[in-house]
Amino acid sequence: MLEIRNLSKTYSNGVRALVDVSLDIPKGMFGLLGPNGAGKSTLMRTIATLQDPDNGTISMGGLDLLREKDEVRKFLGYLPQEFGVYPKITARAMLDHFAILKGIANRKERKELVDALLRQTNLHDVQKRRLDTFSGGMKQRFGIAQALIGEPKLIIVDEPTAGLDPEERNRFHNLLSEIGENVVVLLSTHIVEDVRDLCSRMAIIAEGRVLHTGAPREIMDDLRGKIWRKTIKREAVDTYKESMQVISTRLVAGDTVIHVFSEDNPNEGFEPVDADLKDVYFSALRHAA
Ligand code: ADP
Repeated sequence: MLEIRNLSKTYSNGVRALVDVSLDIPKGMFGLLGPNGAGKSTLMRTIATLQDPDNGTISMGGLDLLREKDEVRKFLGYLPQEFGVYPKITARAMLDHFAILKGIANRKERKELVDALLRQTNLHDVQKRRLDTFSGGMKQRFGIAQALIGEPKLIIVDEPTAGLDPEERNRFHNLLSEIGENVVVLLSTHIVEDVRDLCSRMAIIAEGRVLHTGAPREIMDDLRGKIWRKTIKREAVDTYKESMQVISTRLVAGDTVIHVFSEDNPNEGFEPVDADLKDVYFSALRHAA
């Protein structure tokens, strides 16, 4: 279990990127869902020992992650948002190089590991291709391959599915799910479906604060019976926003469908809908605002 307690960070320009963040992150896939600028990368870089918070603690299995950084790096796999590689090197050579950096000196052991990683991430057939010829999805799978070197117990992936097409996203999801069975995988995203499809637990974060945490299903259950839907004219959206808590508006075949949050039935032609994770997310953000 990764335990984060009272973590705060204010950048020198005055931006409060983390405000008293506490989270318990067990084994399995944990989704950190929030809009751009919420503080997700700041939190992930801090856990990955790349920057220090102003206050707070992070521990895992009795280890203090903010002090024993060298120890942490031995069991950490990290795929940052901006993942740079040498473009002219083949996937295989680059992985081999990363494995050397991770301390795997034995050539035979390294070869076996690189083979296994290339297979696991479905890149074995393209192992001799230069990295600058890789598609976005292939690059992300390569990023996971390097993050898996050294059998990490904690894997951090920052916005890994941004820019991937649906098929690649699906493939990437499957890869992460396999990995997430035995280790802590922390995934940040602004895409609700990533969390809904993948994560056994999650937190919604905005403006540096944790707004909600729990299992996606539990969080959705909290909203049961409180989400209402109505199809309206597009011009009427503002009027509804004045009198109700409109949490989302969506164009469907030329009409506008709004979802509102209300403890009681608002009548006026509204019908109840089962809350989905999008409703949870947008209502959490609205409440925070
Ligand atoms: P997210 O990953 O959720 O998009 P970030 O952690 O990148 O959020 O950013 C949180 C906030 O902190 C944003 O307002 C961002 O502009 C600001 N920020 C991030 N890094 C720095 C930095 N190095 N210096 C100043 N402000 C920063």
